[in-house]
Amino acid sequence: MLIPTLLVIVALGLAFVAAKSRARRWKRALLFVLAASVLLAGLLLSTFVASPLPAPAPFAGSMPTASPPSDMAIFYLPTGVTHRSAAFAYRGGSFFDKRDFSMAAALVRHPRGDVLIDTGFGRDVDAHFKSMPFFFRAVTSYAKGVPAADQLDAAGYDRKKLRGILLTHAHWDHVSGVPDFSGTPVLVNAVERKFIDEGGFLTVVARAGKDAGARFEEYEFRGGPYLGFPSSHDLYGDGSIVVVPAPGHTPGSVIVFVTLPAIGASSGTRYAFVGDLAWQTEGITEREERPWLQRTLGDVDPPAVRDALLQMDAIALQFPEMILVPAHDARAFARMPKW
Ligand SMILES: [Zn+2]
Ligand SMILES: [Zn+2]
Repeated sequence: MLIPTLLVIVALGLAFVAAKSRARRWKRALLFVLAASVLLAGLLLSTFVASPLPAPAPFAGSMPTASPPSDMAIFYLPTGVTHRSAAFAYRGGSFFDKRDFSMAAALVRHPRGDVLIDTGFGRDVDAHFKSMPFFFRAVTSYAKGVPAADQLDAAGYDRKKLRGILLTHAHWDHVSGVPDFSGTPVLVNAVERKFIDEGGFLTVVARAGKDAGARFEEYEFRGGPYLGFPSSHDLYGDGSIVVVPAPGHTPGSVIVFVTLPAIGASSGTRYAFVGDLAWQTEGITEREERPWLQRTLGDVDPPAVRDALLQMDAIALQFPEMILVPAHDARAFARMPKW
């Protein structure tokens, strides 16, 4: 808070000098403009300062049961990065803590059909990026990796094994690879599908995928409450892949809970793919929202994001063994095998 406070003091000082000065009018006006700019910079910087939300009580319920098949497995496929800093992702993060935000897909292998959670950057990511608005491109630089489709093809993966692409949400960096999987259903809920269809630049890439022939398949949250979320969709009915609604970042954002089979005496690893509920794990574990600017521009309903953030923190407090996977946290993906 030191730098924002200093800037506000400097701004007030400049305004005082301008008010008292007997210099020519244009020089005084220039001083006032400078004071206003320094004040705005101070106020904006203050929105990046740590301000943790009140800690929730640990989640009181028990861990839902799951019977994942023994030959189930998970892999991650890195497809590129954007160059950011911790400050960009959560309040209290440092501007000097440079972080490459992962753009990744996760492949969940399941005998009843594999599922790709998001796609990361696809083959046409350059064109997709160009379709984003100028203000976004001005603050975003990225590096391409190998698209998920090419990584799978190179390993001789049989695409027929893919049941679908399960989206955490429909933003460009999560759907860019959809056109590379023509014929593979894209699994979305009705709310997110409406969000895609309604238009707007936020889902222009998802719509392009649809126009290119991607088949959107709707699922419903017919299951009961799951870890405090009001409803759920158990993809295979065995508790291994369970989707819950977590609206806020986009209207139909979801969290995907994946439970792997137990190995020996140790119970199966559990992952929570939280999408962009938080861009880095600290958003949840330190209960730090995105800074005001990112929240205002990036989330359709910031209070709803806050609620889901606290719910996930309550779950993490009760079940610290669960691995939180924010969609852009490379450290989280490093906790699963690479394809
Ligand atoms: Zn997003
Ligand atoms: Zn994202």
